[in-house]
Amino acid sequence: MTDPQPMSIFDQDQLAACVQCGFCLSSCPTYEVTHLEEHGPRGRILAMRLAEEGELPLTDPDLAASLTTCVQCRACEAVCPSLVEFGALMETARAELNERTPPRGLRRLAHALGFRALVRRTAVRVASVGLAVAQLLRLDRVLPDGVRPAQRVRLRHVLRRYRVPRGGRGSAPDDRGEAFVFLGCVMDGMFRDVHQATIDVLDAVGYDPRIEPSPPCCGALSAHAGREDEAHRMARATIDAYAGTTGPIVVDAAGCGAAMKEYGTLLGTPEAQAFSERVVDLCEVVDAAEVAAIGRSVPLTLAYQAPCHLRNVQGLADQARTLVSAIPGLTLLEPDDEQLCCGSGGIYSLEQPGFGDAMLARKDASLARTGAHGVVSGNPGCAMQIARAGWDIHHPAQLLARSLRG
Ligand code: SF4
Ligand code: SF4
Repeated sequence: MTDPQPMSIFDQDQLAACVQCGFCLSSCPTYEVTHLEEHGPRGRILAMRLAEEGELPLTDPDLAASLTTCVQCRACEAVCPSLVEFGALMETARAELNERTPPRGLRRLAHALGFRALVRRTAVRVASVGLAVAQLLRLDRVLPDGVRPAQRVRLRHVLRRYRVPRGGRGSAPDDRGEAFVFLGCVMDGMFRDVHQATIDVLDAVGYDPRIEPSPPCCGALSAHAGREDEAHRMARATIDAYAGTTGPIVVDAAGCGAAMKEYGTLLGTPEAQAFSERVVDLCEVVDAAEVAAIGRSVPLTLAYQAPCHLRNVQGLADQARTLVSAIPGLTLLEPDDEQLCCGSGGIYSLEQPGFGDAMLARKDASLARTGAHGVVSGNPGCAMQIARAGWDIHHPAQLLARSLRG
């Protein structure tokens, strides 16, 4: 066996920026599961340094395990006093690992079929209808727990046709122009009720909602899985699809919104940067004071779980929480581990079921301690993961639509 060679794949400045202070450890959900250094951000950055300097090959089993157990929640990045861009370092590591040790056997087949399906709207629709039928007939019970599509996938949701009001007949006094609802892949397949709520809310606050163009997938799942070229292709296709349009692109899935806001960094072009500046979360286009003034009562007591990519990447957790809290009659409670990931992480809960289940169990316990009757979450992965623990999930758009439209 040849000695490992120094590599030149990581951003040297970023690796050097980590002063190993450990300030990030308590924010790391995988470190909180094992309390082992290799499952925390500091250990992972050290692993990258060892690979970069040629001390150990990146494919060393322990080193690779340290990197692949990261859920990529970026909580460490949000609290790091040295501003280490951990997300970019980890995406580099994943892309390199995917290149050097591609998935084998059944995992390879699952990746090939799954990622190929994401860019084909019909394939996602067929799969969603299949899962809904399986659930209706209770055939889903033969699937392993981590793969079962929770109670979320209902025929009435996946077969829904969007009702898009024409001409911006919003209830707000001003016509705020066109706003484009990004449909995406999983959201369009399984969460059409959430998209409909987003359309209704935009209409209610004076936008002219549009669902076309509808590029199939933002590429976030591919980027997290280390499928770098594919993620770049999807980003470029998404940007191209919106060419010739103006106005905000409203994203009601926090992970997709985070990825699309980072296209500028991902592709490094002025066009991508300009596109990213158009991408907004629903909480950026709906005014909390307006909701408090004109909204109807929604008498629910719910716990608020900010999706990691809304909090740590978009920096919008407080804004989103304030907006939902403004709904009259709604009581919003805060779990005591709000900053920790639920263990979803795209396909992480499937690929790392041990960590995913441990993180979900901790999240379930913290949600239960609030005394809430349900959970507010604005990301499909979090919604499906937390629903596995038996919680009713409400998307902010659905609560807003209920308040503004009844
Ligand atoms: S990533 Fe940041 S917070 Fe964590 S050990 Fe390094 S410098 Fe400290
Ligand atoms: S991205 Fe999340 S899981 Fe990964 S090291 Fe940072 S805090 Fe831990």
